[in-house]
Amino acid sequence: MQKKGRLIILSGPSGAGKGTICSELLRKMPELIISRSVTTRQPRPNEQKNRSYDFISTEQFLQMVSDNDLLEYDQHFENYYGTPKKFVLDMLSFGKDVILEIDVKGALQVKQNFPESILFFVEAPSEQDLYLRLKKRGTESEEKIQIRMARSRLEIAQKSKYDYCIMNDDLDRAVGEIIDILKRRN
Ligand code: 5GP
Repeated sequence: MQKKGRLIILSGPSGAGKGTICSELLRKMPELIISRSVTTRQPRPNEQKNRSYDFISTEQFLQMVSDNDLLEYDQHFENYYGTPKKFVLDMLSFGKDVILEIDVKGALQVKQNFPESILFFVEAPSEQDLYLRLKKRGTESEEKIQIRMARSRLEIAQKSKYDYCIMNDDLDRAVGEIIDILKRRN
């Protein structure tokens, strides 16, 4: 029988560099599959083109919830985010490892339902560093940055629930650490 794929979850504060780590992981391990979330948030410049999310309306999102089409979901900064279930389950059954880049609440929901999933918490070296990365991204107002920083503190307080904490002070090293862990656990 074909081996089932693994669920690999990346979480961490906004600005910790999860997106960049994900892109690098995919570049170095092209066999990995990334799950694309649905969200009711407005796209940032370039996001529509990059197709980082499927941007949908609140009505569409709530319909997916009531149809039980989501593996997990959460409300975050006044918007909904969720992981479409069918794509992920299909990929796992084809033996593919699937990466989810989701928040702590979503990650813990998934871990409860799929205890064998592998949870990585990506950390920035300091709070100051997080702030500067968000500021440099230039997509959020100061008020929204402060809301994200407050949320980050809550998320960081839960990092001990993760299987691994990865310090993103050096992108190559952080990505290398994740790849080593995935290979070791194969
Ligand atoms: P952003 O608005 O910066 O793209 O994402 C905000 C937060 O939502 C991030 O922590 C991100 O990991 C999380 N997120 C993105 N997609 C999902 C999802 O499908 N489910 C959950 N629970 N969180 C998500």
